[in-house]
Amino acid sequence: MAIREGRWDCPTCGTQGLLGRQVRCDGCGNPRPEGVRFYLPEDAPEVTDAARLSEASAGADWVCEHCGASARAGQTHCPGCGAVRGSSPGQQTHEYGMDEVPRSGGRQQPVRALGAAAPPRKRRGWKGPAALVALVGGLVWWNGPKEVTATIAAKEWSRAVEVQEYRTVKEEDWSVPQGGRQTNSFRAVRDYRQVLDHYETRSRQVSERVQTGTRTYTCGQEDMGNGYFRDKTCTEPEYETRYHTETYQDPVYRREPIYDTKFAYEIERWLPDDTSWARGDASRQPAWPTVQIDRNEREGARIERYVLRFTDEDGKTHEQEVSAEQFARYRQGQPVTLRMKRSGSGKIEIVEPEKDGS
Ligand SMILES: [Zn+2]
Ligand SMILES: [Zn+2]
Repeated sequence: MAIREGRWDCPTCGTQGLLGRQVRCDGCGNPRPEGVRFYLPEDAPEVTDAARLSEASAGADWVCEHCGASARAGQTHCPGCGAVRGSSPGQQTHEYGMDEVPRSGGRQQPVRALGAAAPPRKRRGWKGPAALVALVGGLVWWNGPKEVTATIAAKEWSRAVEVQEYRTVKEEDWSVPQGGRQTNSFRAVRDYRQVLDHYETRSRQVSERVQTGTRTYTCGQEDMGNGYFRDKTCTEPEYETRYHTETYQDPVYRREPIYDTKFAYEIERWLPDDTSWARGDASRQPAWPTVQIDRNEREGARIERYVLRFTDEDGKTHEQEVSAEQFARYRQGQPVTLRMKRSGSGKIEIVEPEKDGS
């Protein structure tokens, strides 16, 4: 709890740096007034002299209500006019945080950390965005559609009819479906479940914050109202991270099969037997293949596929699957305009009719 001597400036004649202990101005001889502002220079040494320390500890000075002279706390009578202290006011004491301690004279308040004015923000350059726009534009151009003049070089169609047969098959399931004839039953694994088997003792490192004590530090200054300042002390807890090993129980599971009865049976099913194809080009109208339906047989799914082949103005060939309706509309040798991706991949669209009508 170090004690240091402060300073004051005479408000009457302007003399600066008067010692805190002085109750009268060196320059004009006027008494140190009530409400004087004491300050503590950064380099003020610690007071060690016993007499000064007891002077500092005595309490705040007082100012004579009759003549205005400044008196020490221990004085019962005014050193100026000899009057009893009576209701003469004491000097104010103050508590300052570390960054609030007045360090120099004058009337100004201690300077607070003022936010340094930020330099004006530079405008963002437009180079980056412009380059990005150019890049995206380039990609759109590269992948964007182009139109190509071509002729229909060939037309190809294929049609298929599947034939199904009603056959007896062997199947297995957890129940016999309607129409099935059971031939056997047996136990089989239907599912698995997780079962707690046992616990295993394992260990792990854990940390905790432990208060190990307190730290005392100087957190401000007290203006004692008599020209002296005393260190203000604060305390805060001090912590340490400590580690230790703890054990815990870790559950271990096992996979356990769930059994059920499974049935083997025979049943009649419609199954694909054969597929008949018909294929052709522009010289033949698309038609379905003729299929032979025997006893225990029926027609299944039908498939149809239509393809147009093009040769473009550069002699390159392209092909595109189309609908039956489109296939019927175009004839071999007909000029068309195609729209396709620049890369040549993806779907080819026929732009119709040709723009020049030729
Ligand atoms: Zn003065
Ligand atoms: Zn007096």
